[in-house]
Amino acid sequence: MLSPLLDVYKRCNLEFTSGKGSYLKSKDGKKYLDFAAGIAVNALGYAHPRLSSAITKAAKKPWHVSNLYHIAGQENLAQKLVANSSCDQVFFCNSGAETIETAVKIIRKNAAASNNPKRHKIITFEHAFHGRTMTAISAGGSKKYQEGYAPLVSGFVNVPLKHAKFPELKKYVKADVAAIALEPIQGEGGVNVFSKKFLKELYEFCQAEKILLLVDEVQCGMGRTGKLFHYQWSGIKPDIICVAKGIGGGFPLGACLVKKEYGKAMTPGSHGGTYGGSPLAMSVGNAVIDEILKPNFLHRVQENGKFIKSELIKFQVKFPELIKDVRGEGLMLGLEINGDYTRFAAELRAAKLLTVPASNNVIRIIPPLNIKKKDLQLGLNIIKNTLENFSND
Ligand code: PLP
Repeated sequence: MLSPLLDVYKRCNLEFTSGKGSYLKSKDGKKYLDFAAGIAVNALGYAHPRLSSAITKAAKKPWHVSNLYHIAGQENLAQKLVANSSCDQVFFCNSGAETIETAVKIIRKNAAASNNPKRHKIITFEHAFHGRTMTAISAGGSKKYQEGYAPLVSGFVNVPLKHAKFPELKKYVKADVAAIALEPIQGEGGVNVFSKKFLKELYEFCQAEKILLLVDEVQCGMGRTGKLFHYQWSGIKPDIICVAKGIGGGFPLGACLVKKEYGKAMTPGSHGGTYGGSPLAMSVGNAVIDEILKPNFLHRVQENGKFIKSELIKFQVKFPELIKDVRGEGLMLGLEINGDYTRFAAELRAAKLLTVPASNNVIRIIPPLNIKKKDLQLGLNIIKNTLENFSND
């Protein structure tokens, strides 16, 4: 029978009806440990009391009033984001792709406002994933997401990852380049980490050449690697920061942050959206960030990240024929599997552990940020048992 749903997702045959902390319960009553967090979204797990209380209170007030009016929650959340980042101004929207749309429009608007409007191109990197809108798939450069959608949005130059270093990168930066965009850790592309050294050199290069640096922290930001934003590990000061996923703790919310010198090109009427920054979304966003900025929260992410990574590296040593690589930072880790990685993820799921496949044979481990150490240990035990019983034949 034809499903009334557009057939764009490969779903597994599971339905979850309740959740608490780092666990989900399926319709047939089985409990799953969640190392997926709704693809790095549920930063505080399920049924977090602070989030439940914030949204319940907000649900009794107007959910939506539109951006024709002041919304106090927007000013609050924006204040916290700028106080803890290199940027000065924030635009709220509902998804990661919309933050990219916003960022690209800010870059183009600044080019148009300059005395060199032809300088509007944006450099992106191989295996990048910036979302599924026409602009985002054009920026990402992956043929598999672009297939059948021509004509694409022009103005992007996709650089092979092997040239994501200096001096090689310089040859792509022609006089028409206005910005360089990257995920400091590529998520969908296979948990590929850009080194601190490269990020520093890239930032210095962009500063010297007056090129904007855009970091897409939709997946690696909001505490996932143990700092509010991953770029902060390298001490750089990006001009534009895209955030979504974790910032809403499961409620659709995105934020595009920009330095004031580039934000000023965005004048009333130049951009907008009906829903972005609704009081309901802001109630959750403020609660999430308050929790993440609590003393020790990020330190615990760092400690738990180090713990699980070191255990996974031990598995790699023990099962070199199955694990090709362990990479990532904090609670954004990838296991590169030698062999059928989707079957490996399915076997983990059969053993009641949820993970997320990425491209290039990688399984992502992206649990809620507040996961307990004993739950990390339980997940590690499941991974170990699965490795012991997994055969590529
Ligand atoms: N950017 C990155 C780094 C992402 O990982 C994603 C989604 O996975 C996006 C952008 C797009 O976000 P959304 O699916 O909310 O549009």
